[in-house]
Amino acid sequence: MTARELLDELRQAGLSISLTAEGLRVDGPAAIREVFRERIRAHKQELIDAIRKEEWERDEYQRRMSLARLKEVVRERLQRNRPEGKRSTNGVAICPCGSTEYVDHPIHGGQSLRRDCARCGRFIGFPLWYGVQRAIAGPESAPRGPGKRLQGK
Ligand SMILES: [Zn+2]
Repeated sequence: MTARELLDELRQAGLSISLTAEGLRVDGPAAIREVFRERIRAHKQELIDAIRKEEWERDEYQRRMSLARLKEVVRERLQRNRPEGKRSTNGVAICPCGSTEYVDHPIHGGQSLRRDCARCGRFIGFPLWYGVQRAIAGPESAPRGPGKRLQGK
């Protein structure tokens, strides 16, 4: 039996095992503690090592989870706050103001894009909506030619 298995057995029996400055601390009904007393004494150091390992694994897991979550938050913030930059439509006016430049802002955590006029800030449309490309004025989707210039408003 490994210390890990003994630890499981002790807990299943209703004992609580923890580390203190003095060493191993066993809490629970005295009668149950008595049943395991000899085995706990015989494997004391292994139990201490097993609990330390458990605590280390738990800390490591939490550290990794919080780091992963932090990276996710930073990525979302960067996406939300930084527009992809001013882009040009190769001469096609996309706004009643006559502008041929626009800025796409990622929204919905990057699943959608909101396109604004780069000159007057007017809302143009959503070239991307929850992962689905939509045809609005712009170099990716707008057919060039008269009558299509203000499509999608
Ligand atoms: Zn405009």
